[in-house]
Amino acid sequence: MSFCRFCGQGLVRTFVDLGMSPLCESFLSADQLNQMEPFYPLHVYVCEHCLLVQTKEYVSPEHIFTEYAYFSSYSDSWLQHARAYTDMIVERFNIGAQNQVVELASNDGYLLQYFIEKGIPVLGIEPAANVAQAAIKKGVPTVVKFFGARTAQELAAARGKADLVLGNNVLAHVPDLNDFVAGMKILLKPSGVITMEFPHLMRLMDENQFDTIYHEHFSYFSFATVEKVFAAHGLTIFDVEELSTHGGSLRIYARHSENAKEPVARRVINLKATEEAAGFTSLKTYLCFARKVEETKQKLLNFLIQAKREGKSIAGYGAPGKGNTLLNYCGIRTDFIDYTVDRNPYKHGKYTPGTHIPICDPNKISETKPDYIFILPWNLKNEIIQQLAYVRDWGAQFVVPIPEVSVL
Ligand SMILES: [Zn+2]
Repeated sequence: MSFCRFCGQGLVRTFVDLGMSPLCESFLSADQLNQMEPFYPLHVYVCEHCLLVQTKEYVSPEHIFTEYAYFSSYSDSWLQHARAYTDMIVERFNIGAQNQVVELASNDGYLLQYFIEKGIPVLGIEPAANVAQAAIKKGVPTVVKFFGARTAQELAAARGKADLVLGNNVLAHVPDLNDFVAGMKILLKPSGVITMEFPHLMRLMDENQFDTIYHEHFSYFSFATVEKVFAAHGLTIFDVEELSTHGGSLRIYARHSENAKEPVARRVINLKATEEAAGFTSLKTYLCFARKVEETKQKLLNFLIQAKREGKSIAGYGAPGKGNTLLNYCGIRTDFIDYTVDRNPYKHGKYTPGTHIPICDPNKISETKPDYIFILPWNLKNEIIQQLAYVRDWGAQFVVPIPEVSVL
């Protein structure tokens, strides 16, 4: 038996079981293809007591995050998102040269670079040394560390506390959730603001985004649950925005509970009411999800089998982490997809974990002229379809697997 990473109760209820899967960022080199490959359970639970949806800690975070292949700067729309966020937050909270901004899991400096442009002091904290190195090269000061209460104390003592603590797509990746949130409380100035972005569980379930489940992604939050977690650590969420990123995310704004300067916005009350009306405060809503996931797999395989019977060729686009959950769970290998392409040169010449689909330079698409382009990062489908407009010249079509298979 293992226990809820927030409230400590035993985990007994299955949310969805995606079988055995390799770590989604562990891309293979050619000489690894004939070696044994570790697979771990991808079994997700829902805590009966606090309704936090979570995986158990099957793999240690040191193992997962010390060399990470995900560089945020390879996505144009993500960079735009980061720039727009910087403009908004600087204006809303009047952040300037006298303030300190700290980003948790600052990746390759994709976001902090925009604060630096405005002359605002920043510090990035990033556990993956290879990714942090890319940030430092860009001139973004970065500490290679896992964040938690102890790191927060060290940083607060050495460099002072922060006016703005932000983290995009990190809260869900934290195995010791309580220690991480406690760390933010320690690092934040009395009048400071925290913003965090993470995929919204309500959207994951409504739109069937089961492929955003992977080992590195430990927690799946509704607003109600994240509010409980923050409150337990003396932090109040005073505003929230619903974003379209990563298939539907929340951006929460938190402050010390003692700091009543920022009143709780109407948007917080409205979102809680929406979640409650949609059943997200009741266990039985969570127990219906697994069946929906099975049906999505069946429909996708029907399409692929049909396409292959008609003699069509299929190339993948993208090699994101989420692609690997989908490919492994559905059993899609080179029997369906000849190869996939990615803009990140770090991945070229490598193979997708578990399914061993070769990852090539995007030029390969115009060389081989496939009939279908299977878009793995469906959250970027509009950007990708625009970039690949030229494939229409030979009549290729795009396949998007989620929320259910569709051909565009
Ligand atoms: Zn719990």
